[in-house]
Amino acid sequence: KRVLIGGGTGFIGTRLSNLLKDSGYTVTIISRMPGLGRVTWHEVEKHGIKEPTTAIVNLCGQNVLDPTRRWTPGFKQNVWNSRINTSASLVRAISHASPELKPEVFINISGVSNYKPDNKKVYTEYDECKKYDYMSELCIEWEKAATIDKSLGVRNVKLRTGVVLGREGGMIKSLYLPFFFGAGGPVCEGNQPLPWIHIDDLCELIMFSIENKNVDGVLNAVAPDIITNKDFAKAFGRALWRPALIPLPEFVVNFMFSQERAVLLTTGAKIEPKRTIETGFKYQYPKIYDACRSESKLFLF
Ligand code: NDP
Repeated sequence: KRVLIGGGTGFIGTRLSNLLKDSGYTVTIISRMPGLGRVTWHEVEKHGIKEPTTAIVNLCGQNVLDPTRRWTPGFKQNVWNSRINTSASLVRAISHASPELKPEVFINISGVSNYKPDNKKVYTEYDECKKYDYMSELCIEWEKAATIDKSLGVRNVKLRTGVVLGREGGMIKSLYLPFFFGAGGPVCEGNQPLPWIHIDDLCELIMFSIENKNVDGVLNAVAPDIITNKDFAKAFGRALWRPALIPLPEFVVNFMFSQERAVLLTTGAKIEPKRTIETGFKYQYPKIYDACRSESKLFLF
């Protein structure tokens, strides 16, 4: 059993690789840097898939909310290419693979910006998505680039993923210090929905998608607990035994990140994981407090 993971060196990729290895899989990572147990994107482009492969997962992408990087045309291009080009490259490799090497499933992660921010409507995978800004266009084009021709008989799972909660990266890592020092709080007034998923649930969902032949197509990789940004701040503050009352004003977020990407923090949509639940997947952390508590434990003890 072998899984090839694009971006397997990252926050989600590291936890996924460990889960798969513990479950008896051999993992090969596709990275920009060569190394043991790795292949480079260049090698994938040149030689395609070289060994029999059970699944290919793409988790690659330049960190959009890196506060040290300005939102310049060059950086935007990195954000775009690191997602679209890598997904397209894997689709090409799968299309050209001989039948004995071809994977059973290709799993591609993307975000939830396909769903236009709305504080009332509840979206499911069955809703139609149209582009309305840069982030929505990125997500739509990313899914398109990750689409495999049905005739190849490879399952094509597309995970629309909410904010991933895990101590090693993403939102929890960035917010830990301000919250720890009691300076945490919601972004803006905090009424915007915040689709989220615990990192273990996301990794289990990926493994579930590898192992269950009925899983195919778009899945919302979000927890069933639909919350607002304020609910998250409260839960994370409670998990760390800290108040979480100091809001981060919208103008500060827009100034730090520039409005085109600040929308990822200042707006959100209510998203239900309808198809995900229909596949029979069971969440280990369906509730926000338990998710925050589990990922703040190591910081506290
Ligand atoms: P990381 O920031 O940890 O990065 C993942 C990997 O992408 C890195 O390890 C790196 O691999 C590769 N990478 C980074 N920049 C580039 C680049 N410019 N060109 C090519 N490769 C690059 O990401 P996460 O694990 O947090 O997220 C993985 C994916 O999931 C991303 O696409 C992200 O958009 C998406 N996602 C993440 C969410 C989250 O909350 N974390 C939420 C929703 C979606 P290497 O250096 O080995 O080449």
